[in-house]
Amino acid sequence: MHPLRFRQIHLDFHTSPAIPGIGLSFDKDEWQATLRTAHVNSITLFAKCHHGWHYHFTQKGLLHPNLSFDLLRSQFDACKEIDINVPIYISAGLDSAVLTEHPEWEWVAIDPATLNTSIPSTIRPGFRRACFNSPYTEYLAEQITETLELFPNCDGIFLDIVHQYPCGCVHCLKVMRENGLNPLSAEDRDKCAHIGLERYYQLTTQAITNINAEMPVFHNSGHLTPGKRDVLKKYFSHLELESLPTGGWGYDHFPLSAKYAQTLDLDFLGMTGKFHTTWGEFGGYKHRNALRYECAAMLAFGAKCSVGDQLHPCGKLDESTYDLIAPAYAEVAAKEPWCDQVTNVAEIGLLTKAAVEASSVRDIPGDIGAGRVLLEGHFLFDVIDQEADFNQYRLLILPDDIAIPAKLKKRLDTYLNKGGKLLLTGKSGLGPDGKFLFDLGAECQGPSPYRPDFVMFSNGLQPAGIRAPMVMYLTSQRIQVKNGNSLGDVYDPYFNRTSYLHFCSHQHTPWQLEPSGYAAGVQKGPIMYFAHPVFSIYRGWGNVQMANFLRKAVRMALGDPEIRTNLPSTARLSLMDQKPFRRTILHLLYANTVTRGGHLQVDGVSSRGPIEVIEELVPLNNVRISLKPRHQIKRITLEPQGGTLLYETDESGRLCLRIDNLTCHQMVVLHW
Ligand SMILES: [Zn+2]
Repeated sequence: MHPLRFRQIHLDFHTSPAIPGIGLSFDKDEWQATLRTAHVNSITLFAKCHHGWHYHFTQKGLLHPNLSFDLLRSQFDACKEIDINVPIYISAGLDSAVLTEHPEWEWVAIDPATLNTSIPSTIRPGFRRACFNSPYTEYLAEQITETLELFPNCDGIFLDIVHQYPCGCVHCLKVMRENGLNPLSAEDRDKCAHIGLERYYQLTTQAITNINAEMPVFHNSGHLTPGKRDVLKKYFSHLELESLPTGGWGYDHFPLSAKYAQTLDLDFLGMTGKFHTTWGEFGGYKHRNALRYECAAMLAFGAKCSVGDQLHPCGKLDESTYDLIAPAYAEVAAKEPWCDQVTNVAEIGLLTKAAVEASSVRDIPGDIGAGRVLLEGHFLFDVIDQEADFNQYRLLILPDDIAIPAKLKKRLDTYLNKGGKLLLTGKSGLGPDGKFLFDLGAECQGPSPYRPDFVMFSNGLQPAGIRAPMVMYLTSQRIQVKNGNSLGDVYDPYFNRTSYLHFCSHQHTPWQLEPSGYAAGVQKGPIMYFAHPVFSIYRGWGNVQMANFLRKAVRMALGDPEIRTNLPSTARLSLMDQKPFRRTILHLLYANTVTRGGHLQVDGVSSRGPIEVIEELVPLNNVRISLKPRHQIKRITLEPQGGTLLYETDESGRLCLRIDNLTCHQMVVLHW
């Protein structure tokens, strides 16, 4: 495993050829002082940008036309002189300059409906995308080799925008011909894209290992695709989880990505940005409290930190940006000793649809909804794929829409036989014939003809204070309980809202007074099942009562959770074992995120819509934690400020802690 440093900058430098005087304001002393003052100890610098220009003297690429000296060499040496690591960035998938010279290497989009082909506009502003089945990939590989020959002591290669979409270029047509693939078939076009991507991985990896087999490498696609362990194992030395909360990823994307990354044997960084929105936003700054929170969240979820910035073409680091980064990285520096070599403590495994299908789709509603319920309910969990060791979890959750392949079914059966528990919802747990794959003590009779319908949960699952059926916005499965334990009743509406003859009021046709005879859920032995895609409903509608029901359901499926707390749903919590030091770190994390901004269109300018932002960090007082420890605890301290925390042990052996004040982030260290 390649150990990463904790305080990295990802210094974008995509620079137009129409801008003069590139790098002329670079000053070594100032550069070093700025990075030092901001506590930076690693920085990714640019060999080649998306515009396709190089920032070092090159025989294998195109030097930026307005660069008169070796900028990367100057930046690189300045960093190395003060022991700052320098991974080097090379734009992989986007390269406007060379595609102007070699338009035959460009990606050709195919409209699947009409089979018309097109290349993205060559006259509107925007980068141009290369096809990895073309000789561009050899061109790129040569640049990697050259970079490593010029900078043999760099600390890694970061290859950016690694995608191969189906393509209709002459090279792809040749690949399809040679491999017996039919360009008219969407499936075959996907196969050809896969060949291109694999070709990219092989050629770039060869270029790196030919020079230095130990050189760290990361291929960035903007989002970690779960379930592709073979690709990660073969081609990645570590992970950098790109997730700018205000740039479209949101504040819940990073924790869920990190919770999958933690289950792999790879060191990883979280990557946010200093921008108010996202990459390329010159003059955009988030509040320093937001960055403090985002870096603390990276530590809390087992990651090291990277903050994205973009260097002004003049080559001078922006003082306001590094003033913003300094307090966040000062805090990270103080906290690092408790955040290295950690493993996440989890009692729930969330087996996502994305992981089962190895899908790169970022927002699968059931996955995201379930992740949010677990984060907001302060459960200890991992996001896992099919290859994970299920036996370390007391409960597995398969949200909403997971088709269970035979191999997975077998693994789940073994897990159940060893005492594991399952929570299934919606279509998860149904076979291709629509019948249950497990003995749930109930029969499934297919999807309900009604949508929405309504539910009265039983067994204490109904949210407190709600004594009438609750609306369920998405289609349920019709289940009839035989020898299982019913978890409530479905109430059908009088009719669906279908026509002028069949509609009622502004939205929903109300429920009929008698229950439908179908159950809202069933439990038998270790398996609990709900008939609606409840996690997708929560993802889509965000209703608080639904969250209350779902937290109760997870608690009921799990049994006594390891941690109970009075933290609000907006706070986050994690438990990390730091085995080499015989201690467990409880991370408490809180920021009052709020949605600001909106959709605005003025003079041809569109805003980005509502953005979740952080301004003040409001303290939480009197935080209580009840925790069932996995080790004999000798003492508890608060870090990094130091000081012993007194606690009580109740009759069941749970530790009862009280933290007087939580502002943003607190580590509670349990020594064993
Ligand atoms: Zn192509």
